[in-house]
Amino acid sequence: MMLTVFDTLRGRLIPFKPIDEGKVRIYVCGPTVYDLPHIGHARTLIIFDMIARYLTYRGYQINYIVNITDIDDKIIARAQESHVVPKDLARKFERIFLDDMKTLNATLVDAYPRVSDNIPEIIKIILGLIEKGYAYQIDGDVYFDVTKSLSLGKLSNQSLDDVWVGARVKVDERKRNPADFALWKSSKKDEPFWESPFGKGRPGWHIECSAISMKYLSEQFDIHGGGRDLIFPHHENEIAQSEAYTGRIPVVRYWLHTGFLTIGGVKMSKSLGNFITVRDLLKEYDVNAFRLFITSTHYRSPIDYSEKGLKQSSRSLKRVFEALDNLRQGILVGDQGREDDKDERVTAEVKIIHQRFLKAMNTDFNTPEASSEFFKLIKLGNQAFSMKANTVLLQSIYDLIIELGGVFGLELERTHELTDEEKRLIAERDLARKNKEWKKADEIRQKLKETGIILKDYPRGTLWTVERK
Ligand code: AMP
Ligand code: ZN
Repeated sequence: MMLTVFDTLRGRLIPFKPIDEGKVRIYVCGPTVYDLPHIGHARTLIIFDMIARYLTYRGYQINYIVNITDIDDKIIARAQESHVVPKDLARKFERIFLDDMKTLNATLVDAYPRVSDNIPEIIKIILGLIEKGYAYQIDGDVYFDVTKSLSLGKLSNQSLDDVWVGARVKVDERKRNPADFALWKSSKKDEPFWESPFGKGRPGWHIECSAISMKYLSEQFDIHGGGRDLIFPHHENEIAQSEAYTGRIPVVRYWLHTGFLTIGGVKMSKSLGNFITVRDLLKEYDVNAFRLFITSTHYRSPIDYSEKGLKQSSRSLKRVFEALDNLRQGILVGDQGREDDKDERVTAEVKIIHQRFLKAMNTDFNTPEASSEFFKLIKLGNQAFSMKANTVLLQSIYDLIIELGGVFGLELERTHELTDEEKRLIAERDLARKNKEWKKADEIRQKLKETGIILKDYPRGTLWTVERK
């Protein structure tokens, strides 16, 4: 089955074919580390984690890079406000970001290169751009001359005449064109700086991504991602820089952009202050429920955060765990030999659901449709359990739930191992129930509940699970 992806540059669905067969190189613009990551950042990073997981599932070997912007005006400003050194502030929020990525189970990133560790690479490209006539120096600053680039405007579909005074481009009289953007900024008093052939200073924002992607993924690579706020000017400028420097076009085969996570219809952002941090959200909700919430909407559409939406996803997650508990129970005490027409029908349905799941994912990662197939599988799992299907079938449904859930980055397998004491209590309760000592059985159940172990009694025996949010 062919995978198609929506490429922002060409504005349509394109069959996916990586540059090197069997390998996919992915670059996603990471955070500027001056504050806690919010769930808007998390959306973008969960989406690309899911894409990396699906590509891996399809058998591709992936190399996935996310950069860390640890030099930036906002970092310097925040550090000055809080009377700390910019580098210390950046390291602190970088650590928190990396921890959050782990708790979000967004674990497919191969490396998180920092801008500050790539200054020589950045300087080399700037020198090359000056040499080739694409960039010019004024008083220790270096600018990219947008009129020299053939690539500019392609991604966001703008002409140079639509005067480009992007949010991060200040009008500066000394520039040749208003849209010329900084490759190198001379340092002001009390600002961090690096020595360079242009003088003491630091890199502009866009050049870091050209330098880091080139170093880690080579001059041309497969997928470049980020939130849609980055299309212009950031990615536009990145294309201009990289293609001017290497002469190789296109630098990126597929540009993928995620829609915003909004709250009350407004983009969640640090600067607006309307954000919920990843940490706060995960105090309330299971990370699997959050990932189900994110995958319930197509990645290019906006997704509006609401408590109602998250609660709904939590309920859906409970259904998944219940089905898995049922299947486990069925496998434990089920009938291995039995197989009849009903089982055959279920087996055929499982195959169809799997196919439809893949078809949805192959169509520009249509997770809402894939998710609906996933929940059909959950329902079918419960049906198969109720009709006492044979254990081989139950096991195959169980395994497929884990497998497809894994594509969404869900961690569904039981992570808890019973302690000897917990095992002893469960056995003691079984005995009490056999002897109809209901009070004692209830007391033991309560005692286990206090330690987070939930017992469920089925006609065919008792099964335990861990308590979930
Ligand atoms: P920043 O630290 O703001 O540069 O953002 C880091 C990454 O998160 C970029 O790829 C942004 O596009 C993305 N991002 C930031 N806010 C949101 C949001 N509200 N929804 C989706 N993605 C976002
Ligand atoms: Zn970038």
